[in-house]
Amino acid sequence: MNIDLLTAETLEKLHDLAHWLGDPVRDCAILAEGNVSAAVGADKKTFWLKASGSSLASMRPDEFVLMDTERSLSICDYENLDDEGITRVLTEAKADPSSPHRPSTEAGLHAACLVEGEAGAVGHTHPVPFLQILCSERAEEALSGRLFPDEIVVTGPAPCLVPYVDPGPPLARASREAIIKYKAEWGVPPKVVLLRNHGLFALGKDVEEVKRVTSMATKVARALVGTFAMGGPRFMTPEAVNRIWTRPDEIYRLDKLDRLQLRSK
Ligand SMILES: [Zn+2]
Repeated sequence: MNIDLLTAETLEKLHDLAHWLGDPVRDCAILAEGNVSAAVGADKKTFWLKASGSSLASMRPDEFVLMDTERSLSICDYENLDDEGITRVLTEAKADPSSPHRPSTEAGLHAACLVEGEAGAVGHTHPVPFLQILCSERAEEALSGRLFPDEIVVTGPAPCLVPYVDPGPPLARASREAIIKYKAEWGVPPKVVLLRNHGLFALGKDVEEVKRVTSMATKVARALVGTFAMGGPRFMTPEAVNRIWTRPDEIYRLDKLDRLQLRSK
């Protein structure tokens, strides 16, 4: 496909994802909270990113910025940048310098999800059920196991938790390190990256998978909060988690979810 057509098609799908995640019915983001990104083509040399300050629910297609993936990823490596320095590296990472918009401050983190996290699309939101967990004293305990089989099928064998650090380059760097560590431990990239005292990043091969991962992860968070009113979570055993994660009928079911979603478009 022609690169301009491919770029336009990616933007159209990402615009749809922004409105889907920002729909008040999902309670995932209000005002200018959250951001989304999607890689253009298989080589991922560029990606579309929400502009800073736009609202997911109402943003227009011209409120996205085309970013250079390599330059965005290198934001992770900057240490001790002041606010002016952050603005400069964000501007330099734009693939189209003529774009009037400032990219989201989390450009480096999105690039880490697309490159190290091997995602094609990424959705970052602040769902209330997750904030209840991530801003609590017992977040690590609450996120130390899996509750039910569908959680594993859609969101993977474990979450990837990132401690609280300053947004921008330090958060991008900590997230990239957490993703690399997760891959070394589990042999696959995470579907969900959770930021302490902040929110979640859902990683998908495309925007439809980002929707599925966000929906399921948020449902899990609601259930998890409820278990603490009933004596605390009783997690599945590691053996049971591993069994679901590797059994062929569950892999088939995941595959079928993919095809169902395509047919319903
Ligand atoms: Zn955020």
